[in-house]
Amino acid sequence: MTTSTHEQIKLMLEETACAGCEGIHRNFVCVHIEAIAELPSRFGDFHIVAFSNNQDGKEHVAIIKGEVFGAADVPVRLHSECLTGDVVGSLRCDCRDQLEAALKKIGEMEKGIVLYLRQEGRGIGLTNKIRAYSLQDKGLDTVEANLALGFRDDERDYAVAAHMLHALQVQSVHLMTNNPNKIAQLEKYGVTVSQRLPHILPTNEHNRFYLETKAAKSGHMIDFHGKEHLPEQSDHTLVEGMAQVEG
Ligand SMILES: [Zn+2]
Repeated sequence: MTTSTHEQIKLMLEETACAGCEGIHRNFVCVHIEAIAELPSRFGDFHIVAFSNNQDGKEHVAIIKGEVFGAADVPVRLHSECLTGDVVGSLRCDCRDQLEAALKKIGEMEKGIVLYLRQEGRGIGLTNKIRAYSLQDKGLDTVEANLALGFRDDERDYAVAAHMLHALQVQSVHLMTNNPNKIAQLEKYGVTVSQRLPHILPTNEHNRFYLETKAAKSGHMIDFHGKEHLPEQSDHTLVEGMAQVEG
């Protein structure tokens, strides 16, 4: 089913100018909408929009539910790609749980967007993430591992994500996050965050201890080998029934 959002975005495929860059040219960030298609999924009927940009050469996508073009108060989730978690179901992080929860929630809503950002491993890339895992296997903690590889603890930047929302002419967002820093970053790039929607994951008997440990450690968690590392989504997991952990 095509929507008017789909039609609007199709028209934008012909445009050659940067999309949604008015007033924020100082960042020299430019995004362009390259393709759109329908994307029926197990979480609901979405549209998927592929973007190019002049910053990182990555193929970021927006997974869209309903009429978001030009809309206000659009529920939005920023998800950073995690091949090991999203695809393989790795238990070194809970990225897949976070992604599925966001798609399920937005799939049940009238409208919403998941921005799937190809910033693997908190921005250091897949190979370096695996190098960092390897160092953690040898006893380094996550910060030591990243520093040993010459990276800061978190290399992500949300300028491109903000421009993607501008390109879709989203007027304001309800950001699904437990992370105040994500809100601050989006607002820095001119996105109005009119509300925060806590991203709460229901637990099951298999992951309750894992999630409670992560929440109790203020965003840190312990893997099965006793090594501490940070969740890649950098959102402190909120567990149903537990007090909220801010920080
Ligand atoms: Zn992950």
